[in-house]
Amino acid sequence: MAGMTSTARPYLNRRLAEFGTTIFAEMSALATATGAINLGQGFPDTDGPEEIREAAVRALRDGRGNQYPPGPGVPELRHAITAHQRRRCGLAYDPDTEVLVTAGATEAIAATLLALVEPGDEVVALEPYYDSYAASIAMAGGRRVPVTLRPAEDRFRLDLDELRAAVTDRTRLLLINTPHNPTGTVLTREELTAIAGLAVERDLLVVTDEVYEHLVFDDAEHLPLASFPGMRDRTVTIGSAGKTFSFTGWKVGWVTAAPALVSAVRSAKQYLTYVSAGPFQYAVAEALALPDSYFDGFRSDMVARRDILATGLAEAGFGVFRPAGTYFITTDIRPLGEKDGFAFCRALPERAGVVAVPNAVFYDDREAGAPFVRFAFCKKPEILQEATDRLRRMA
Ligand SMILES: *Cc1c(COP(=O)(O)O)cnc(C)c1O
Repeated sequence: MAGMTSTARPYLNRRLAEFGTTIFAEMSALATATGAINLGQGFPDTDGPEEIREAAVRALRDGRGNQYPPGPGVPELRHAITAHQRRRCGLAYDPDTEVLVTAGATEAIAATLLALVEPGDEVVALEPYYDSYAASIAMAGGRRVPVTLRPAEDRFRLDLDELRAAVTDRTRLLLINTPHNPTGTVLTREELTAIAGLAVERDLLVVTDEVYEHLVFDDAEHLPLASFPGMRDRTVTIGSAGKTFSFTGWKVGWVTAAPALVSAVRSAKQYLTYVSAGPFQYAVAEALALPDSYFDGFRSDMVARRDILATGLAEAGFGVFRPAGTYFITTDIRPLGEKDGFAFCRALPERAGVVAVPNAVFYDDREAGAPFVRFAFCKKPEILQEATDRLRRMA
């Protein structure tokens, strides 16, 4: 049998046994096999700004970053990260001691958990959660304690009593994500104030994944958790260039936090990749300094795409949670007479020629996630139009 030795011990260890393969591999294979439009995985089908691509080419040609860059990241990028943070949200970080460049947000999450979590520590995370959280908690030997975001009217909300009840004497940290993948929820000032209050009261560290900080729509506002009272020095903030600049293949991410926390995360990170993406670091430094018009244009572009997909999905009969952020729409399939997101997504490529992802994979409480299905809208408008036409025909 695959994955077994003759003595029947599985190759994959117990910590990772439940993470065999990701749903994205299965769904992308289905998309290829059926020729369906892939709205499953969240990567843009159009590359980021030409001038930033040229900046990467220039760095390569000029021999900047072709050899190991400094462990914490090249100074140009660390300065650009702190300048961007100051300009966006008034938070001041020291580029020399309070910034660490990582191989995407994914490594930042892994290194942070490997550094901060002792085996047996509890990590409270919002559910549904980004799939790497559960695996990283497991690799660190921690125990995940999910707090479920529940749909109420138009959005998924955090139940503050549930959050409070999830914290015990063994809780090491809270793992937050806003804007939130996959629900598209942007945590409100009230919700964030409560999270901050709880962290201060129980003296907890907080890790906050804010890779969609620039993808916030309509009246919603992205409020960095580190800016709340008492949070500056207990919060590890994780960012990434992938989503903001549509270069998900470059894998340039970062951590900003107080010096002692950055130093701890660096201890783990130096034995994961040590360093990565040398020339791309210089290009991302230029990207972060782009004028507001870039960020505004990117956002309005994504709003238009969200609206095409949200309208089409509603017309096709889905229950639609109109996202306030990210580039995902979570839908409810019960109005279509369906209740099992897994079965629905496995059949959808054949039925309609579209690929989506069952939200249940982002839940421990699979029951709670069963009727929800996620679609990505970081695709060309004509692709979204074609996908929604197909879904309407299915209905
Ligand atoms: C895409 C994504 C990441 C991973 O970012 P990379 O920079 O590509 O590693 C992390 N967190 C969330 C919520 C994401 O959606």
